[in-house]
This record gives sequence, structure tokens and C-alpha cells, in this order.
Amino acid sequence: ITNGIHIPSWISNEMGTLIDRYLGPHWREDARDRVNWDRIDQIPSEELWRTHERRRERLVAFARGKVRSQMDRHGASQSALENALEVLDPEALTIGFARRFAPYKRAALLFRDMDRLVQILTDKNRPVQLIMAGKAHPRDHFGKDLIRTIVSQSKKYNLQGKIVFLEDYDMQIARYLVQGVDVWLNTPRRPKEASGTSGMKAVANGALHVSTPDGWWAEVDDEGIGWTIGGGEEYPESQYEYQDEVEARALYDLLENEIVPTFYKRSQSDIPRTWVSMMKRSMKTLCPMFNTNRMVRQYAERCYLPALAHYNHLKLDGWKDLKALADWKEHLRNNWNALEIQDVSADIDEDVEVGTTGSVKASVRLGELKPEDISLQIVFGRIGTDFDIHDAGTVAMDFEAQDENGLSHFAGVLPCSKSGKFGFALRVLPKNPNLHDPFQMALVKIFAG
Ligand SMILES: *Cc1c(COP(=O)(O)O)cnc(C)c1O
Repeated sequence: ITNGIHIPSWISNEMGTLIDRYLGPHWREDARDRVNWDRIDQIPSEELWRTHERRRERLVAFARGKVRSQMDRHGASQSALENALEVLDPEALTIGFARRFAPYKRAALLFRDMDRLVQILTDKNRPVQLIMAGKAHPRDHFGKDLIRTIVSQSKKYNLQGKIVFLEDYDMQIARYLVQGVDVWLNTPRRPKEASGTSGMKAVANGALHVSTPDGWWAEVDDEGIGWTIGGGEEYPESQYEYQDEVEARALYDLLENEIVPTFYKRSQSDIPRTWVSMMKRSMKTLCPMFNTNRMVRQYAERCYLPALAHYNHLKLDGWKDLKALADWKEHLRNNWNALEIQDVSADIDEDVEVGTTGSVKASVRLGELKPEDISLQIVFGRIGTDFDIHDAGTVAMDFEAQDENGLSHFAGVLPCSKSGKFGFALRVLPKNPNLHDPFQMALVKIFAG
């Protein structure tokens, strides 16, 4: 279940009021109604853009004040403090990046090719600026090094007015940032981001999202909505350097060829029409999905309510089934180690046609267990270059008979549903009608021939 955000808590007052005028107030109670969000299209582009620009101006003023007090704390001179109030440009394309500095989030990706970054930021006609915020734990050397790199690189390349780092990232800083930036940047190393939520906060406010296809962004079709860095490739740790190089280039390409030109393509009345239409499409597509109403409902429907029904069943007749289940679990644990999959055979040709099936047979030494105590499954799927099974599916095998040597024979049908290089393995999981989740006991036996 993907995370969501509570939109009314993160949206700016101006944007919330604007949305109220065109959608009515219901989205604040339940943000899931797609048809209602489609009315974003009725907001005149001028109105949406002016609303957004006011918030960018407010972010710039806030950031200047923060920079000034940070410098003051670090003992800067009076003239340096005055310069702090000159940083950033309230009209420039503003990119936001804020997070905990966990290595996989790759906060320094944009800094890999400084010459290219300088080119992008300092274009006289199409200026770009970057506001970063982060928090490093006092003993987190990686995070502290990273902040030092960012600050020293901005100094070295004379970018102090273009790159601003806000210390002590918290919810107040987050609110100003997500409400005022034009672009929210997210660069996790796939597949390490479970969900991520800061981008959701930004898109609810009309920012466009630029991200590797990881976490929540992997679920989004970005066409006309935002931009995706790279094609979702995954790399082993030994190739992380190479991956960073490839993905940093992809990010610079996006900025140079798409993001900056779209932002600065203005109509007669100075409105970036294409950009604003992307803002609308992003908001109306993503808001009904990535919100807490949808998230909590999914938790309730898929987890909490079934768990409650299960509990209500187990407590009947003085917890009869629960007691039986506890005894069964103990019996299963005591005999699990003796369980053994033997003699697996598959009647499948080397080359098979899509749509056909193959038959698989296996015998299992069950020891003290009964055939109905276990579920023997075929796990099948495409074999990757890493020799692992990808996009695995499972089918259960059926118990056929027990022979005179005490071996239990099972048979199953393997569907050959897709083209490519295929493989399978077998696994045994505990099975009991009262066992709510077959993985709950953390017991599995695998046969990968
Ligand atoms: C939203 C938020 C986060 C989490 O952001 P992710 O994108 O999930 O990493 C962390 N810190 C603050 C202050 C936030 O507001």
C-alpha cells in the first residue's frame, strides 16, 4: 500500500482557496474523487500561475531570511549578512530538493558535472536556482560531508546566489519549499525508495515532479505530468559509479532540453502555457491517488478489517480454533526441519510455445506432517541475467498419493504464459485454514534445482 499525504495540511492557503472556488470544499474531507479533481481544468491559467508566483516570491523571502540567520550564527561579517538578502531571484525557475541525507537518496547527483550545472544555472535569459534543505545527524559523517560538498562547490563556482542550503530541515521549511518551488527533484537509487512523500506534497501545490522511477513515482505514467530520470534500470553495487554518471547525464539532459525551455516558453501575457497545463494535469491526476484518504481506506480494507474478521472467528466457542492453531503451529515447528523435497521432475521441452503448459512432479518426505499441513508451490517466471526469477507467479501443486516408502507425491501444471527465458523453483509453505498469512510463521523450504 503506497503512502499518501493529508493534502489540506500541506497545501498553501492561496492554493487551497483557489481549489475551493472551482472544486467546492469536499476535497478537504475526501480527496479521492477524480471527477471532482478534473475541474482543476476550469481554473484560468493566469489565475493558477499568479497564485503560484506569489508563493515562489514568499519562498525566496523566507530563504533569504534563513540564510541570513544561518550566516549570523556562523559568525559572518556585516557586509556578508547584507549580501544574504540578495540571494535568489523571485522570478527564476526554482528547483527544490530536501531530505534526510541517506546515501541512496543521492543528494549530490546534480553536482557530478559542475561545468554543466553552472551552464544551466547561470543562463542570463533562462536562470535556474536550487534550494536545498537537509538534516544530518551529528554523528552522520556521510550527511555532514555531503552538506560540506554542496556548500563548498557553490562557493568554488561562485553560485552562492543560485544555490541555497537551508539547515535543520523541518516541517516549517518543508511547507515553504513544497509550496513555492516550480520543480521538486527526487533522485533515489532504484529500488531503495519505499514510497517517499515530499514529492506528493509538492505536486499537490502545483510543482512538477522530476524523479527516478522509484517509490511512488514508479506507479505514475508521467506523460504530460512531470519527468522521469532514466528507464528504471537497476545496477549492482559494483556499478553504482557508472549508474550515477548515466543518471546525472539524463537529469542534465532533461533540464536542458525539456524543463528549462518549457518553463521559459511564455505567452504574450508572460504565462508559460504548456507548463501551467502540466501543473493542472499533474494535480488532477495525482491528488486523487496519493492522499491519506485512499491510503487509510486501503489499509482498512486489505489489512485491518480482514484481521478483525479473523479475530472474531478465532474467539468463537472459547477460542477453540485459536487453541487448535497454537497446538498445530508447535507441531509444525517441531517437524519442519525433517521436511524434504525430493525427486523433482518436469515434463517440459527446451523450447515451448507461449500458451502451452508443462507438468511438474515432486515427492516430499513429510515425516510426522500430513499432506494438508503444507502447500507445495511452483514459483515461476522470467530468468534475468542475474539468474534470478523475476515477476514471479505461483501455482499450487496437488497431493496425489503416498507410496510404501512414506514419500508423498505431488503434481502441478506450469503455465508457459510469456515469451523469453523461463525457469521455476518449488517451495513449501505452512498451510492451515486458520493461518491467516502463510508467511507469518517465517517457515519456508525451497527447491531450486
Ligand atoms: C515529508 C517530509 C519528509 C519525508 O520526505 P520523503 O520524500 O518521504 O523523504 C521528511 N522530513 C520532513 C520535514 C518532511 O516534511
